Parts: sequence; structure tokens; C-alpha cells
Amino acid sequence: MDKATAKSSADVFQANRDRAGPLLAKLKAEGIGHVIDGKVVPAASGQTFETKSPIDGTVLSTVARGNAEDIDRAATAAAKAFKGWRDMPAAQRRKVLHRVADAIEERADDIAVLECIDTGQAHRFMAKAAIRAAENFRFFADKCGEARDGFNTPSDEHWNISTRVPIGPVGVITPWNTPFMLSTWKIAPALAAGCTVVHKPAEWSPVTADLLVKLARHAGLPDGVFNTVHGFGEDAGKALTEHPAIKAIGFVGESTTGSAIMAQGAPTLKRVHFELGGKNPVIVFDDADLDRALDAVVFMIYSLNGERCTSSSRLLVQASVADKFVEKLTARVRALKVGHPLDPATEIGPLIHERHLAKVCSYFDVAKKDGATIAVGGKPHDGPGGGHYVQPTLVTGANANMRVAQEEVFGPFLTVIPFKDEADAIEIANGVQYGLTGYVWTGDMGRALRVADALEAGMIWLNSENVRHLPTPFGGMKASGIGRDGGDYSFDFYMETKHVSLARGTHKIQKLGI
Ligand code: NAD
Repeated sequence: MDKATAKSSADVFQANRDRAGPLLAKLKAEGIGHVIDGKVVPAASGQTFETKSPIDGTVLSTVARGNAEDIDRAATAAAKAFKGWRDMPAAQRRKVLHRVADAIEERADDIAVLECIDTGQAHRFMAKAAIRAAENFRFFADKCGEARDGFNTPSDEHWNISTRVPIGPVGVITPWNTPFMLSTWKIAPALAAGCTVVHKPAEWSPVTADLLVKLARHAGLPDGVFNTVHGFGEDAGKALTEHPAIKAIGFVGESTTGSAIMAQGAPTLKRVHFELGGKNPVIVFDDADLDRALDAVVFMIYSLNGERCTSSSRLLVQASVADKFVEKLTARVRALKVGHPLDPATEIGPLIHERHLAKVCSYFDVAKKDGATIAVGGKPHDGPGGGHYVQPTLVTGANANMRVAQEEVFGPFLTVIPFKDEADAIEIANGVQYGLTGYVWTGDMGRALRVADALEAGMIWLNSENVRHLPTPFGGMKASGIGRDGGDYSFDFYMETKHVSLARGTHKIQKLGI
């Protein structure tokens, strides 16, 4: 890095810290309450929990700890607000949602620094997260007018048309990785569809969820349309999935939690949409543009601290180029910059929580026991603030059956598995319980299409890293999920499709009882 860049990088680091100072002071002084029916309220039980920074363990704020009573208040508010929001003309709903997007954009820099401090994600990735969140709101705001669209499927003696109506109040339960951006992905389409929302954010990352609901309220969302209840999965989360007024649950999180939610929602026949875990393969064939493939491989597992559902955590590389490719990869992983998340030079920040750090670190022993080699990393990292830092880790000498090739680590941890040929690559890629994404690098378009067809995954990128385009379907197969987000797919989840048949007056009606 030249001197000028180094200076500007230090300046940005300082500016980020200066921006964070007053925000954190306010957060600590005010605490975080639920937002129910447009009002900030404490937990009915009076209980709170602390949210701590993964950088240095500082208590950032005390947070209302919700339980079934708080969920009931929020679900009741969402049910009361439903008809008004559902029946608001689409153009008006669109305007309000655009105002929410404006409000997010205005506070984008604040959101970025708070997200870094609450989650440990590096600023270079979070700087744009709020802008993407605003885009989610704008994209779905512009679709308000078409949400009710259906089909005309005429038969000989009837006009058959379909239309869609919002399903009702819905619950949205989200995880802690990129929580602000990710939650807007679920909440924006629900609101655009005409549903009201109760959001239960992850207990490890409540800060920006609080900001989101408050921004939405100030932007003019009517009271009760969007409510947020904080708390733990086993009480607030569970109560939300069981509440009879809540008609559907949009959930993002672990596969095992998805199973639990399905069982919890069964008595009230909840419609569920699950975005779950992954152990995604990136397959590099020997005829690929290996330089671009290398960039994508590094980016897709070591960005966002590897805490990313779509990360390519398994590198399947063709044996003929494996040694050379892994040599270059090793150098890149060794050079990754672990550091303070507010430093723009940082590529990997501290992991979200000490329990998550312990989980990621436990895989170092798993790798060794499996008989694989830790080529890079394999230890906690002593980073600024002494928080939950870990060394970016590269595991080689693995085979497809090892735990490090099967289980989601959800950290900066890549397992390399060489393969022989196309059939071998497909078999290894599909040989896991998950099926979220797959990435294929090859110069042979025919092969790219064959492999894309054969991969058991909801999303495939050919010669590309994950680049999200909002109208496209997002979601997983197998243990990676049920349902799709994005574009019209989101409306299919948040709305009921209704069939209406109009007779032309010509068909014969059977006459009984004559
Ligand atoms: P998690 O399943 O532990 O928690 C997610 C949310 O569910 C939290 O808000 C939690 O409080 C809540 N919860 C927990 N138990 C619950 C219960 N019994 N009933 C209702 N709610 C409950 O997941 P996490 O550790 O926060 O997030 C990491 C996981 O999320 C990873 O597996 C990752 O792959 C997955 N993820 C998937 C996607 C995707 O789009 N497929 C995106 C991001 C993250």
C-alpha cells in the first residue's frame, strides 16, 4: 500500500470510530426496547439481556428480553393493523416503502458502523450493506402495484382468473450474519405484499434491527404494521411460531432450527419459508480461467468472516491443476488481513460471539482427527481489542467423507477436495445433506451447463461468484431450505392465490331434485 492510501485508510478508520462514539453512547444510555404498535416498550416481564461487541466484549446495550406475552402484544397489534395496510392503495404503500428506503440511505453510514461493532463484520463489506437494504425496499416498493396480479386461464364456458391477497400478519425470524441487509430481504416483500410483520431478530445482533424498525416508523409506516420483539429463540422465537394470529413464518437460520420451527408451527398450520445452512461447493476444472477462479474462491469463503450461507466452503479442484492452484490459494489465505472491523483495510473481523468462535475452532481438531492437513491458520487470532478473532484457515488433504467436508463451519474455513473428472466432481458436490448454492469454473460451456443441471442446489453460478439479482429466485434444496425469495417468488409466499371463475351463462347445470 502506498503512503497516500495508507493515510486515507487510517483517516477512514478514525472517521468510523468518531462516527461510532456518539451512536454507542446513545445506545448504551437508552437501551433497546421492543417496538410494538408504534411504541417503544420494555419486556412485559421487565427482563433484559446484554448485547456485547465481539471486538472487545464491551456491553453495547441492554435489550428487552421478550417472551410469549410480548409476542402476543405484537401479534395482536399486527392483526389489528392488517386490514388498513392491506387495503391501502398500492401507490400509497409504494410511497411509504420508498420513504423507508430514503431513511435507510440517510443513515447508511451509521448503520454500517453499528453493524460492524455489533457483529464483527468488516467495514469494507458493511459499508454497502445498508444501501443494499434500501434497494431491497425500493425494489419491492415498485412491485406493490403488481402484487395482486394473477392469470387469466379461460375455459369453454368460464372465464377463470386468479388473484392474490396478502396472507395476513407474518413472523420474520432472522440470524446474526449481515442482519440488517438480510432482514430487509424478508420484511420489504412482506410489507409490499400487504402483510403486517412481527420481526424477531437474532439475540446476538439486536442493534441494527432496532434501528430498522425505528427508521420505518419515522418514515410513516402506520402503527402496528411492523413490530419488533427482541429475545431468545427458545422463548420469543418459539412463541412467534406458535401464535395463532401469525399466518406464516419467514425464517433464516440453521437447518436444525428450521426443523424445530416446522414442528412448533404444525398445530396452527403455519406456512413456512426456510433459508437454512449450506456446505456449498466451488468446482474448478482445469480448463477454467484459474486467476478469476482463484479470486472468486478466496472471496466466497473469506469475505463476511465466512459467516455466509452462500459461502463456497468446499473447494473441489481438478487433480491435474490442484497442486498449482492450492499453492497460489495458500499464499492468498496467508496474506488475508485480520483486524478491527472499522479499519477499512480489514478483510476478516472478529466472529460474532465466543460460542461461535469456539464452534469454529473446534473444527481445527476435527480436521486433524479426520486426517486432513491444516495448511494455513488453525488457531484463534490475537486481534485488536482481544475479541473473537480467528485465523483464516485452509484445510487440504481432505476427502469427501470427512466431517470438514460435510458440516457447515460458518467461519473463514475452507476445505479443499481434489477430483478426477466431471462425474467425480458432481458426485462429491452432491454428497452432502445441503443444497444451497454451487459455483462452477470451466472454459467449456457445454460442461458448465451439464454440471449446473446435475448439481442439487437451488442456485448455481457459472464462472462467477455469488452476485445477487433481486428478481431471481433465492433459496435452497435439501436441508438448505424450503421456498424461494426474490421478485415475484416472495409474493407467492406472503400471499394467498385465489381462483375466481365467472360463468358465461352457457354451461349446463345438473338439475337435481326435480
Ligand atoms: P439459528 O437457527 O441459531 O438462529 C436464527 C434465528 O432463529 C434467531 O433469531 C434465533 O433466536 C431463532 N431461533 C432459534 N431457535 C428457535 C426456535 N426454536 N423457534 C423460533 N426461533 C428460533 O441460526 P444462526 O446461528 O443465528 O445463523 C446461522 C445460520 O443461518 C447458518 O446455518 C446459516 O447458514 C444460516 N443462514 C442461511 C441463509 C440462507 O439464505 N439460506 C442466510 C443466512 C444465514
